[in-house]
Amino acid sequence: MTMTSKKTYERPVIKKLENNMPNKFGTRTIFEPISHLEGQAVNDLIAKYGSPLFVISERKIRKNFRKARQAFETRYPRVQFAWSYKTNYLDAVCNIYHQEGSWAEVVSGFEYDKAIRNGVQGNKIIFNGPDKSETDLRKAITNHSLIHIDHLDELYMLQDIARNLNIRPKVAIRVNMDTGVYPTWDRFGFNYENGQAWDALNKILFSGMMDLVGLHTHIGTFMLSPSAYAVAASKLAHLAQSVLTKYNHEIKYIDMGGGFASQNTLKGSYLPGSDISPSFDDFAEAITTALMNSDYRPKNPPLLILETGRALIDDAAWLVSTVLANKRLSDGRRSTILNAGVNILFTAFWYDHKITPAQPFTSYTEDTAIYGPLCMNIDVLRESVTMPLLNKDDHMVIHHVGAYNMTQWMQFITLRPKVVLIDEQNKVHVIRNNESIDNIRSLEHVPDHLLNFE
Ligand SMILES: *Cc1c(COP(=O)(O)O)cnc(C)c1O
Repeated sequence: MTMTSKKTYERPVIKKLENNMPNKFGTRTIFEPISHLEGQAVNDLIAKYGSPLFVISERKIRKNFRKARQAFETRYPRVQFAWSYKTNYLDAVCNIYHQEGSWAEVVSGFEYDKAIRNGVQGNKIIFNGPDKSETDLRKAITNHSLIHIDHLDELYMLQDIARNLNIRPKVAIRVNMDTGVYPTWDRFGFNYENGQAWDALNKILFSGMMDLVGLHTHIGTFMLSPSAYAVAASKLAHLAQSVLTKYNHEIKYIDMGGGFASQNTLKGSYLPGSDISPSFDDFAEAITTALMNSDYRPKNPPLLILETGRALIDDAAWLVSTVLANKRLSDGRRSTILNAGVNILFTAFWYDHKITPAQPFTSYTEDTAIYGPLCMNIDVLRESVTMPLLNKDDHMVIHHVGAYNMTQWMQFITLRPKVVLIDEQNKVHVIRNNESIDNIRSLEHVPDHLLNFE
């Protein structure tokens, strides 16, 4: 018997021609199959490395980084980027940023150790966050890392350790403030408006035991407003000038943190992120203009540090997956189940990720709910999205997944998949293997009395 594939019946449809104009439901979803990523066929990638699979583009990472750096360097003389490890701390990814000249920005002892193991020099590691143990601080002080103090308990502990080690730690304080964007992020660092920040600076400068080198802020994440950064930059510069006036002490750097919005689309947003997210130029213009207009008058312009994470990497990665099944919900709506769920795509909780088929499809589309494979009601990738008819075993590409997924993913119900990097010659490298049951079991221990049962 010869195998001939019979074409499935497709019901005829009349399609209205439209321009890509938003209607009352937002922008029309336009589909084109995305069959290749950086020159590699999605089908081949899945055949070779399994499904689901995270795919990262080295070319895109470098391109985004250079664009961001250029936006700042063309406007300000001294600029330094520090890669935010928690955004994506796969070693291969971090090292691309380090090759491009980025320092490391870490928020835990674990991330700090990762940066050291990647070969980052101690004095090029910025240590942020509320959780720094005594061991962490000793390490950071000895390595001459930049310690950004979050609260007074940390300040006192740091002074204690400094006295013990007889080394002057290089410190900055994290400052939180009203930037006109609400709610204000006031749980990290010292407040500007109520005088906490100034109190902390007084304590540091009066004690004379620490080397105050910088001022830091990180005003939020997925910030859509460049003007908020202008306000923040002015306030930090004003603090720096107060320090110069009172103590004749020059602040060497102003660290504006991260938080620039990526091109992703927030849930409930009327327009897609690609239409409304400001560009690196917009953020750079706001920050550098505010700094240069400020009243801070040091002999040398302070180094401008940026810790942007999300906006640099979000669109440099995809999650490719496979259709497990289609079914009708009780209201008749179509639903499609993919083999990639919220356990590996944490950002599905706040983004409407763009999802496209990886093969040609019919022109007929339908409102579809897209679910992941978990036996859990929360496992929803898209509540409602216009999709062509998909078949079991079709491949799908989920876009803009580079930030906060390969760090916030969890081993829940299923195992975590492989991550591959496609280099600038379109060569594929596995940069993180998939988990196995042995990986998981190796951490577990069953007490003797629980080993046997009938
Ligand atoms: C998370 C974080 C960043 C990076 O934020 P993005 O929103 O990914 O740009 C930078 N600095 C600090 C202190 C952070 O906590």
